[in-house]
Amino acid sequence: MVEENGGEEFATLVMSVRRHLQRRQRAGIRIVPGSSPAEVKRAALQEINLLGGTMDNLFAENAAALKAKNLEELRAAIGDCRRCKLCSGRTNVVFGVGNPNADLMFIGEGPGRDEDLQGEPFVGRAGQLLTDIITKGMGMKREDVYIANVVKCRPPENRNPEPDEVAACEPFLKKQIDLVRPRIIVALGKFAVQALLQSKVPITKLRGQWHSYHGIKLMPTFHPAYLLRNPADKKLVWEDIKKVIKELRGENA
Ligand code: URA
Repeated sequence: MVEENGGEEFATLVMSVRRHLQRRQRAGIRIVPGSSPAEVKRAALQEINLLGGTMDNLFAENAAALKAKNLEELRAAIGDCRRCKLCSGRTNVVFGVGNPNADLMFIGEGPGRDEDLQGEPFVGRAGQLLTDIITKGMGMKREDVYIANVVKCRPPENRNPEPDEVAACEPFLKKQIDLVRPRIIVALGKFAVQALLQSKVPITKLRGQWHSYHGIKLMPTFHPAYLLRNPADKKLVWEDIKKVIKELRGENA
């Protein structure tokens, strides 16, 4: 099992407190100065009921996912997810695709329009470039690897995922990695690298070097969407991918 870290638990806690405060506000619980003892008692009882509900929801929402024994169980536990605000604009939860026992896992940022409509990661223009890297560059098939994203729902207008959205979805990505147990992860772009390495160091500094995610070798590289805008940097990604190919073949020993 990949160890759960304190940061993940803290993020889950923050999410649950935020949801609790929102429910509290919707339930109209307010103790204003000068409330009568009866009003204070009524508000306190409402609060206790609500808190009970929050704890139940928290455990029910994430416990099944974190206990999943395979990717199908994890997908089922995520369900028709409403854990963050991205749910309101999405068409499909884009879970992940590929070989559940892959040696190599690619992790992107989040679904775009094509991915949202088709329910599969990396199927748009950036996806075609990733597919070319896998097939033409690495001589592998897309079905040989596993592909997932940090957030599973499309951010509106393809904006960057926000910290609360990443925090809500991150436990599922970590569980996916835990279940696939790849030998190597390629983290595509800043969001995947930041989520997995908990680092704010720019991707330009991190790429091309091996890092470790709970003992799994992790290679950060530029995101394919960035390469569509900056094709001159494709050669840098190719340098990174060549290191991955060597490692997969056991030639780095
Ligand atoms: N960009 C990503 O990060 N992920 C996708 O699935 C598609 C584009």
